[in-house]
Amino acid sequence: MKGKPEKLIVKGKRLDGRKLDELRPVKIEIGVLKRADGSCYLEIGNNKVMAAVYGPREVHPRHVQEATRAIVRYRYNMASFSVEDRKRPGPDRRSIEISKVSRESFEPMVIKECFPKAAVDIFVEILQADAGTRTAGINAASLALADAGIPMRGLVSSCAAGKVDGQIILDPMKEEDNYGEADMPIAMVAPDNVTLLQMDGHFTKDEFKQAFELAKKGCAQIYEMQRQALIAKYGAEGKQ
Ligand code: UDP
Repeated sequence: MKGKPEKLIVKGKRLDGRKLDELRPVKIEIGVLKRADGSCYLEIGNNKVMAAVYGPREVHPRHVQEATRAIVRYRYNMASFSVEDRKRPGPDRRSIEISKVSRESFEPMVIKECFPKAAVDIFVEILQADAGTRTAGINAASLALADAGIPMRGLVSSCAAGKVDGQIILDPMKEEDNYGEADMPIAMVAPDNVTLLQMDGHFTKDEFKQAFELAKKGCAQIYEMQRQALIAKYGAEGKQ
């Protein structure tokens, strides 16, 4: 990657031409994997991710079964070719952390009591990374769960806000994530049920409030795109 640009915001515009409160372009394709019960391919800016859901299915190993409800498992994995410097294959501290917080962003939303002793397995593969891969993965996973017909209390939508050159921005890309002052990914179920909130860097109290509100607006926009993608695939009544 090139060195730090002198400025990340020039005349109110970001390096990729976006306004401060603008998301990167999003592309969604639902039901792309034949062998998964549900799947979704999603792009946001230069992030490209694939989510696959398997289940509800029998739990292996058996001792992790829960008698009255399903367990939800989530694996986030970055392909070695997804980043500039080759990523060493296999789990590391970062991917274990992201898998954990992403799973927790779904746990209250999946109606687990419908499937005692079963597992719902969510796999997220990052094919190309440009900052915001955990949020892109959550957005794709949410649609893959819907595609698999897993009963949920709502669609989980996810997006980050950040701070660069002293200004609050929506959906930071790689340069903004690397050289910015703060990054705050959230996930939520509309209208106000926040299931993930992480923060890297420093916000003042007022900046935090502003960033949080902006990230929520981003999630609401993503939710609308997710909803439209499901309608395009299944129709308004859920048929295909
Ligand atoms: N990244 C990288 N190599 C790594 C991990 C991350 O190049 O081993 C890059 C990648 O583009 C990623 C970005 O750094 O999207 C920001 O990573 P972060 O840990 O903040 O997670 P993310 O924003 O992707 O959820």
